[in-house]
Amino acid sequence: MSAAGPPQGANCAPSGGSAAVALANATASVGVHPNAWTRLDDELDAWRASGRRATLWCRDDDACRDGAALRRLLGIARAQDIPIALAAIPAALEPTLADAIAESAIATAIQHGYAHRNHAPPGARNCELSAHRAVAESVAELVKGRVRLVREFGARFAAVLVPPWNRIDAEVVARRIRVQGGRDP
Ligand SMILES: [Zn+2]
Repeated sequence: MSAAGPPQGANCAPSGGSAAVALANATASVGVHPNAWTRLDDELDAWRASGRRATLWCRDDDACRDGAALRRLLGIARAQDIPIALAAIPAALEPTLADAIAESAIATAIQHGYAHRNHAPPGARNCELSAHRAVAESVAELVKGRVRLVREFGARFAAVLVPPWNRIDAEVVARRIRVQGGRDP
């Protein structure tokens, strides 16, 4: 994956392999604990035992545009009645993604950072919303990105932030909340 620009996610790249293989690869690439699935099973068993039912959804990161892999994912989601959250990269967004979602009530767009650009210094782990740049810059980009997603997706956008590489500096979170102050954007 290039640190300089948006990666090619499942819905940006040609489809290849089974969903199970993709899941296994994804699990390995993010370093999931080997007992993670067992622990999840145990937790869900505990919920069931107490009469509760968890609401789960699938998340597809690095969404940029429509394509064969996205169509396949949405088809599976519809057939299995599984909600899909598409983590869209605002700066790399193409209009075809909103068109694809418009036809699929099962999918919702959420925000995947701004440009999926690494701002960490060499040797540090990749991070866009990093303490290694001005916090105000990160927050301004997040606001700009959200405005674009609202404009593109309207009611199909949910105000959920997925930080690229699953990393975000605590001060970015704090300032983003202060900037919003309970108002849009
Ligand atoms: Zn990503």
